[in-house]
Amino acid sequence: MQPIHSALVALCAGVLPTTATAQQTDRYHVPRAARETLVRMKSSVHHGSAGGYYTADLTPAEVDTLRQAGFEVVPAPAEPPNPGGDQAKGGLASWTSYAQMRSDFEAYAAAHPAIAEFHVTGQSVQGRDIFALRISDNVQVEEDEPEVVFWANIHGDEYTSGEIAYRWAMQLIDAYGVDPTLTGYVNDLEIWVIPLLNPDGHENGTRENFNGVDLNRDFGWNWEDGWGGSLAAYSQPETRSLQEFCLEENVSLSATLHCEGNIFLYPWCYSPNDVPEHDLVLSVGSLYANAASYALIESWDDYETHGELLDLIHGGYGSLCYTAEISLDLGLFEDSYAKNTAGMELFCSRADSGLHGLVTDAQTGQPLRATVTISGSPFPAYTDPALGDVHRLADQGTYDVTVWANGYVPATISGLQVVHGATTDFEVALQPGADKHAFFVTSVNQSDPNNAYHNVTRPSDALGAPDGVACSLGSRGFIVLDMGAGNDIADGPGDDFTVTEALVPGDLEEELYFVFAGDAYDQDVFLGLATGTASFDLAGSGVSTTRWLRIVSRSMQDPNAPLAGLELDGVTILHGIAGKFVDIGPGTAGAFGTPSLTGSGDLSPNGLGFTLQISDVAPNAFGLLFVGLNEAAVPFHVKGVAFYLDAPWLLQIPLGVDAAGSLSLSGTVNTSMAGLDIAMQCLWADSSGPAGVATGTNGLRLEIP
Ligand SMILES: [Zn+2]
Repeated sequence: MQPIHSALVALCAGVLPTTATAQQTDRYHVPRAARETLVRMKSSVHHGSAGGYYTADLTPAEVDTLRQAGFEVVPAPAEPPNPGGDQAKGGLASWTSYAQMRSDFEAYAAAHPAIAEFHVTGQSVQGRDIFALRISDNVQVEEDEPEVVFWANIHGDEYTSGEIAYRWAMQLIDAYGVDPTLTGYVNDLEIWVIPLLNPDGHENGTRENFNGVDLNRDFGWNWEDGWGGSLAAYSQPETRSLQEFCLEENVSLSATLHCEGNIFLYPWCYSPNDVPEHDLVLSVGSLYANAASYALIESWDDYETHGELLDLIHGGYGSLCYTAEISLDLGLFEDSYAKNTAGMELFCSRADSGLHGLVTDAQTGQPLRATVTISGSPFPAYTDPALGDVHRLADQGTYDVTVWANGYVPATISGLQVVHGATTDFEVALQPGADKHAFFVTSVNQSDPNNAYHNVTRPSDALGAPDGVACSLGSRGFIVLDMGAGNDIADGPGDDFTVTEALVPGDLEEELYFVFAGDAYDQDVFLGLATGTASFDLAGSGVSTTRWLRIVSRSMQDPNAPLAGLELDGVTILHGIAGKFVDIGPGTAGAFGTPSLTGSGDLSPNGLGFTLQISDVAPNAFGLLFVGLNEAAVPFHVKGVAFYLDAPWLLQIPLGVDAAGSLSLSGTVNTSMAGLDIAMQCLWADSSGPAGVATGTNGLRLEIP
């Protein structure tokens, strides 16, 4: 039997973690006046250092450079204690270990199944699970509620951060039905607590993960080569799993807990330019910062960094995210806990305010995965495909809201009024029928090699239909664009997609760029190069479909210019995966003849469905249809024509082979499969085979990446 997972295995083989050459560093205090020198070296400087100096992990060469420049560099005080030690101080004997946190979370979920679910959201380099508690009423059900996330300990040795998140999750559950305010948060929100984003670092006592990479420099949104040992955006399994988590959950408000310095940071990290919704960012951030008595400052003002979670969530997901820099002093833990949980609870109080929308298909009424952009910010939020809901924080004011889904005509609702602290609802039913375009920015580097900070264009301007508003990539920058689940580009007759460059005032020059295909994290299939707007054909490239494109600017312009590089306006899909089956192979002779297969249809969620004709089957053979990820799970000895099916999201599938020996299947694809990886395989089983084993071979495989 052909492994149904072969394509997935091949995919995974290409995304093995990149291991940085971890250089030996020691921890120092460096005067803040050395900032420019540190930034130029992309030194590992911690956010939030107090007292007029930075805390930095420096190589001997970096120390030499700083000292030669006249800066005083002194060794930092002793490292913080590892978990499980006996450093009894104040009210807390020691930090809690990974194993203890995990077993406590499992126990809480088991004891409170109505409001708490234990989740594993990814794995570390050393194979430890990254675990979470999802806390909400009716926790087994996806409800139309804002999602609030508290992440912690992405730097493994910042123990206070994980300890607070871990203890607060359990406190929240214990308070349910007792404390009316906390009970209200559990009822009205979906709260995620992920205490250990870097479990290996937590157990090994390191800031970085086991590959020596600072995970908070490895995210893809204005990532830049070399920060924190990161040699590629999403080079590590921990950051990839966090990205996948964010794609699945539609986070409305979040904070990432760090140590130390008693400050509260908001984006940007990579740029001195203000975030678009500066007033909103300040007003929400001040809730937490004031409760914790922390100074509220832009992350860049503390120190420049690239590849931070903060920038990803704000730029990539149109959502508010902040960094709390908490004291690392074990003896001050009670104080830190009280301050930060007060801030976290105020975040919960604010998460359900602003704009709340529901987006559906105008013809079927089914919920849609859509982008939702509000006036005042270019960064779209995304609806949850299960319910079509979006929860977007917004200040008091009047908003225009633009909603778009791939293959649908965008719609704008004008003049939505938001009152401070309240929620304004809207509903949008989108009309199908429009072209498809890039839907999500997976990673981007608007290159600025000399730190000129002149480029103020936004990566999200490369999404959707070309409109003359473009993202400038910088002379050697890149962007990886995701067409969205089920909207892969496919090889059809002639060209398959168009890249549109905007010629804008200030830069009317057409610019050179390269285009590659691949998966979300590794794009190495060269598709071609062009100057200015051009169309590309997948034929001959070695791939027949791709959901992701990497576009690399190769402009010769002055890299410091505001519009250096390709002004990427959009990508238009000319041939999509919907409407055709892929990877149809011939069956082989077995007990039921040699089947031939033809099929057509639309496998997109809420699409027109599909029909599949199978002929030359033994007359009157009866079969069962199964579709799913794992044919090994076929639950019994299959006889006759069998497909593997384990999916509530495929409907209306008649079974059985007629007297002429043909089998006709038709079905529709339920929306709830959106975003799932599925494969469908026709298994030709030999009825004489041993129980539980299908001895035939594949006739067909369908894949929706
Ligand atoms: Zn940190």
